[in-house]
Amino acid sequence: MAKRTEMKNIYDNIEIMLRQHIGGAAAPVINVGDIVKKGQLIAVCDGLGANIHSSVYGRVAEISDAAVIIKPDAHQPEEYVKIKDTASNLEAIKEAGVVGAGGAGFPAHIKFDINLEGGCIILNAAECEPTLFHNIRALEEDAEGIIRGMKYIMHITNAAKGYVAIKPKNKAALIAIAKAIKNDSDMEIKYLSDIYPAGDERVVVREVLGIQLEVGRLPSAVGALVSNVETVKRVCEAIELRKPVITKDITVGGRLGDTYGNSPQVFMDQPIGAPIAHYVHKCGGYIAPIGEIVLGGPFTGERGHENSVLTKTTGGIFVAMPFPVAEKKFGILACECGASSQRMREIVADMGGTVVSETLCKRMVEVNGRYRCEMPGKCPGQAEAALRLKSQGAEAIISSACED
Ligand code: SF4
Repeated sequence: MAKRTEMKNIYDNIEIMLRQHIGGAAAPVINVGDIVKKGQLIAVCDGLGANIHSSVYGRVAEISDAAVIIKPDAHQPEEYVKIKDTASNLEAIKEAGVVGAGGAGFPAHIKFDINLEGGCIILNAAECEPTLFHNIRALEEDAEGIIRGMKYIMHITNAAKGYVAIKPKNKAALIAIAKAIKNDSDMEIKYLSDIYPAGDERVVVREVLGIQLEVGRLPSAVGALVSNVETVKRVCEAIELRKPVITKDITVGGRLGDTYGNSPQVFMDQPIGAPIAHYVHKCGGYIAPIGEIVLGGPFTGERGHENSVLTKTTGGIFVAMPFPVAEKKFGILACECGASSQRMREIVADMGGTVVSETLCKRMVEVNGRYRCEMPGKCPGQAEAALRLKSQGAEAIISSACED
């Protein structure tokens, strides 16, 4: 019988990371001891990067190269400091510090600063990592706001058409979207297959537009821009509510009292910088025995710990079971869309194994010094790769390939 272990509610500090995005770390504009308000700008970024704001009312306890630690007040009013007036919606997105919330963390004001010349915006509602549900929940709760966010981006980028790319199984979200676009001839729903990696940008473009992007080419090469649901939600908030990015939607699951054997729980609009331990506690504490805490989805998530904190790109918190012991020689079979080679080596080491060989899915090709998949989602059999690893001494194979 699984055993529940007690754990303390840890929420004494909020730790706001200074690099929650692609690009350089933001530079703090507050000092230790300062009293800050929710929504107040606390760090700025020049060039590639994004502004950072306080997610709570409190006092700055510590500033390091990596983070600003704030001691939150006991009382946390709903109100927040709004972003300053801006000359354009693109400026508002920049001021609010919006970044790709699907995991990439690319600064949105740079991505959207493009002329698509009548092209299209594609809302990526694939939610393709198993166990994650918060993007679909966002659509169920406020499809109209997210469609308005798409329209702002269409206007900024001079796009003529908007597509919502979603899996047909998400019926409640589909109904909400259909209602939200019923009078819009420039908006359309497109279905994605229920496969991994349906949410890969090139898969989305292929499924929606019927165009196979060559490896290394961006959707903008064919007049398209793909954006994750929560990113678009934050765009709408920045423009309409003048709200900076101070919260994150997350899904929590795994070996936790309230989620074990059930659906993971979704928490919307959680303060950025809150510790993972807080959500473990909120979900009823651990169900022993436990293994690692994974931040993100099972395919591409990374190892976290109780003291890790929410960032603008944290999607999931998943408490896994312990790895099995396997003191064997392992071969690694790597894929672009799954766990990295480094992540698989970490798992092998935890199982007590050693890595003796490594190979790639045969669809991986080198582009600009990085291996990319030629045709994501059209995954081949991996028998040839498995035999190669075996001939190099592997007794077992760990694979991040999407099939087989
Ligand atoms: S074809 Fe290979 S590299 Fe591409 S997504 Fe499938 S398994 Fe991964």
